[in-house]
Amino acid sequence: MRKNLSLYVHIPFCVKKCIYCDFLSFEAGQDFCRLPGNERKQYLHALCMEIMSYRSVSDRYMINTVFIGGGTPSILMPGDISLIMATIRSVFKLRPDAEITIEVNPGTLDAEKAEEYIRLGINRISIGLQSVHEEELRMLGRIHNYDQFMASFQTAREAGFHNINVDIMSALPKQTIHSYLETIEKVLKCSPEHISAYSLMVEAGTPLSEDEELIAALPEEDAERKMYEATGILLQAAGYRRYEISNYAKEGYACRHNIVYWSLGEYLGFGLGAASFFEGRRFSNTRDLLLYLHTVCDGAVKEQRPEALRRLLQKIQIRDEDVNTERLMEEYMFLGLRMMKGVSAEDFYTYFGHSLYEVYGEVIKRHIRTGLLLDEGGIVRLTDRGIDVSNVVLSDFLLDP
Ligand code: SF4
Repeated sequence: MRKNLSLYVHIPFCVKKCIYCDFLSFEAGQDFCRLPGNERKQYLHALCMEIMSYRSVSDRYMINTVFIGGGTPSILMPGDISLIMATIRSVFKLRPDAEITIEVNPGTLDAEKAEEYIRLGINRISIGLQSVHEEELRMLGRIHNYDQFMASFQTAREAGFHNINVDIMSALPKQTIHSYLETIEKVLKCSPEHISAYSLMVEAGTPLSEDEELIAALPEEDAERKMYEATGILLQAAGYRRYEISNYAKEGYACRHNIVYWSLGEYLGFGLGAASFFEGRRFSNTRDLLLYLHTVCDGAVKEQRPEALRRLLQKIQIRDEDVNTERLMEEYMFLGLRMMKGVSAEDFYTYFGHSLYEVYGEVIKRHIRTGLLLDEGGIVRLTDRGIDVSNVVLSDFLLDP
């Protein structure tokens, strides 16, 4: 029987780099795709070669979800995503009901691209809005405004997308509770099927982290907490079910791809820096664009056999040697408890061959006493109070080295 597998495809290009972004993406400019002989073609070629290098193992798997993320996949030209999807379909067998997501950013999506995505069987689109306020967007270095977001949303609906996610952000510089509530209100008016609501994190090494003025303009802790609480109250009142600490969906629209990550399911990542958890190994592709392009493209010229190309790729992959059962148990609990459905003792046993209470009995019982966790018939999950202080609870699930 074929095993379930998910695929991630990384497109590491954006029109402009946002000041808070520590994702692996390069500023490519508005005309990136129109330049002849640019890196786009080489990158697509390498990506497809990498996907094809799995031809010899792909018949063991059935693809449950595909996620084309970035970066900004919608920066690519019509035809590019067709090439990626055709390559995937030529190598892997996709379930008829596979969830296939593409990430897009306002200002880079048009009707031609959206219709192409639909024709390719892409059935979920994720739009990075972050805020409806021009000043907040400008401070973050985003290229779009609210009208462009609305145009993208409309374009996606008209093309035939019935499963749309909108990303919003709280705790932005100069953001007030009032301005954040306006963002939520306007997003709810669009009625997307899914909303991801994250707080801005100031990551070391980003331009934001060095901008003292903007750092000083970040909301106070109290305001940030109120934004966080308002998110839960307003989205749930509007019919969205919180299924993970930062993710809300209408019934039946939880993101299956993310649930694979959060349940420690297997996935393969293709493209620059893409991470995989495959056949018990964790590894990531190099983050060096030239090294990636040369290794894959030169390798593909010299080596026609998929296994030989895979071996070449392995030479430039960073292998996580630290994967052991204890590490996986910790991750299983961190990620599992962030989901509202919690962790099933039975699933834990199936995954690890150890009883959940044998490994974590002491900490679970302690937090049941503090009212932060509950166990309902073998399903351990955070209480409402536990969700609010989840970091405190989750850190207790670290196992001694
Ligand atoms: S659009 Fe997204 S990936 Fe691109 S720079 Fe901005 S935050 Fe980073």
